[in-house]
Amino acid sequence: MSGGKDSTACYLLAIESGRPFRAVFADTGNEHEAVYEYINRLPDRTAGPKVEIVRADFSRQLNRHRDYILEKWPQQGISAEKVQQAAALHAPTGNPYLDLCVSKGRFPSRMAQFCTEELKTLPITEQIILPALRDGPVLQWLGIRADESANRRRQPRFNKHDSGAYLWRPIFNWTVEDVWRQHRKHGIPRNPLYDAGMGRVGCMPCVNCSKGELRKIAAQFPEHIARIEQWEQTVAATNKRGSSTFFAAVTDPTDVDRPGTYSGIRTVVEWSQTARGGRQFQMFFEEQTGGGCDSDMALCERDTQDE
Ligand code: SF4
Repeated sequence: MSGGKDSTACYLLAIESGRPFRAVFADTGNEHEAVYEYINRLPDRTAGPKVEIVRADFSRQLNRHRDYILEKWPQQGISAEKVQQAAALHAPTGNPYLDLCVSKGRFPSRMAQFCTEELKTLPITEQIILPALRDGPVLQWLGIRADESANRRRQPRFNKHDSGAYLWRPIFNWTVEDVWRQHRKHGIPRNPLYDAGMGRVGCMPCVNCSKGELRKIAAQFPEHIARIEQWEQTVAATNKRGSSTFFAAVTDPTDVDRPGTYSGIRTVVEWSQTARGGRQFQMFFEEQTGGGCDSDMALCERDTQDE
């Protein structure tokens, strides 16, 4: 369960099967509050099972990285004040996304998209699938549709995953209209984020988001942009460069006074509100896959209204 339309359609289809099942949501910590409310209300609205929530824990990685900083940075001539500040910021916050970025000293990107694996695939595999496999075979339903992307179209409907679970894609041949029809059939409203203009439900924002999606998020949910801005400052203070940006570093074409410096989310948001200009930003976003990741496990929903 991502709280998006496809996984909700799967959940409803599983109820129709009449067989017991478990529904699992991997909380990245970079979610809109409407997602938690939506998945928490599903059981009451459907008489289906409660959606179990798993979260990755990076305490071990944070401790290891903090010890490295305390030992190595002073030897590299980094000031005691900066060492102490960076080390202190390695206390786990309990927010998986932020803790992951602090432990790595950077944000994920399209080219280094460790977020899906670390925040979704591994917690679900380690906390749900592997324990369940000890009791017998596991059939894992994935809300993947062939018409979401070329990559997803190439996937089989059924295969065995490295975890040992069997993967089944029950709505593989469904259209978006089929998915909405399934919602209507069960009298289930769609996630309100779609009504707020979002094309996908998932990280807010996703490192792969499109220019248009970022503009809509900034207009509708500025508090999430403010949160990311705060995270950028935190992650920047935990690496030697003293800089870190949510979107992959691009040279800011408008930053003439500081050539070669990188732009934070606030600058990228301002650019997203322009019709044209900012050649590097434009190129960067044109290379984005747009709206979520293309994970084989359908753990990040794809945007069907991308620009
Ligand atoms: S939605 Fe985007 S940012 Fe979130 S885990 Fe998936 S790829 Fe990463």
